[in-house]
Amino acid sequence: MIKIEHLNVFYSENKALTDVQLKLESGGIIGMIGPNGAGKSTLIKAILNIIPYSGKVLIEGKESKNFLKNIAYVEQKSNIDLTFPITVKECVSLGTYTGLKLFQKVGSKEWLRVAQALEKVNLSEYANRQIGELSGGQFQRVLLARCLVQEADYIFLDEPFVGIDSVSEKIIMDILQDLKEQGKLILIVHHDLSKVKVYFDELIILNKEIIAYGKVKESFTHENLKKAYGDNIFIGD
Ligand code: ADP
Ligand code: MG
Repeated sequence: MIKIEHLNVFYSENKALTDVQLKLESGGIIGMIGPNGAGKSTLIKAILNIIPYSGKVLIEGKESKNFLKNIAYVEQKSNIDLTFPITVKECVSLGTYTGLKLFQKVGSKEWLRVAQALEKVNLSEYANRQIGELSGGQFQRVLLARCLVQEADYIFLDEPFVGIDSVSEKIIMDILQDLKEQGKLILIVHHDLSKVKVYFDELIILNKEIIAYGKVKESFTHENLKKAYGDNIFIGD
C-alpha cells in the first residue's frame, strides 16, 4: 500500500502539486489521467523520491527511498535515449541490478530470468538486436520485460502506450493483468480516455491537485473530467 499525505511539489516558484492525499492499495491497475502539465509525471517522481517534495510518502509504512528496489519504473518515452548502444537483452538485464550487490555481475540465473521475460513480451528473437532497431511498441515491451525481471511489487508506467501499435498495447495489458492478479500495484499514467473503463480498476484524475480518485465507475464522470480538462472535453461511450 502507498500512502501519500499532504504532498506538495514546487519547481522553483511554480507549484506543480498541491496537497495530494492518496491511499493506493495493491492488487489493482490504477490509471492516472489529467491534462498536460497536470503533474502526473511529477507525482510519480515524488513517490520515487527522485525530486524534492514536502509531505509524506510511505510505501508499506516505510519511506520510499528505502523501497526503491521494489519499485519498477518506466519513465515517459520522450526522456529515453534510443541511440544508446545497448542490446535488447542487456537492456532487460538492467532490471536485475537492483537485486545484485555492488560489482556483482549478471550471472546465469539472471540471464535465465531475462530470457523468460523476453519470451513473455514475445521478443525472444530480438534479444541480440540493438534497442535503436526496435519499433516504439517493441521498445515499450522491452521496458516492461525489464520491469518483470526486477520482480518488483510496485510498477509505475508513465504514458506507456504513446506512439505504440495495438498488438504491443495488448501484450502489455495482458501481462499487467497477470501481475495484478499476483497482487502487485500497477500505476499507469494514461492519455487515451476511451480506454479508461476497459483498462483500469481505479482512476486518479489529477490537475495539480486530486480532482477525483476511486473506482472507475465513480470517478470517471463528465463532471470530474470537466473539472480537470475544462468544458471542451468529450468522452464517447
Ligand atoms: P504531466 O506529466 O502531467 O504532463 P509534469 O509532471 O511533467 O506534468 O509537469 C507538471 C508541471 O511542472 C508543468 O507545468 C511542467 O512544466 C513543470 N515541470 C515539470 N518538470 C519540471 C522541471 N524539471 N523543472 C521545472 N518545471 C518542471
Ligand atoms: Mg508527464
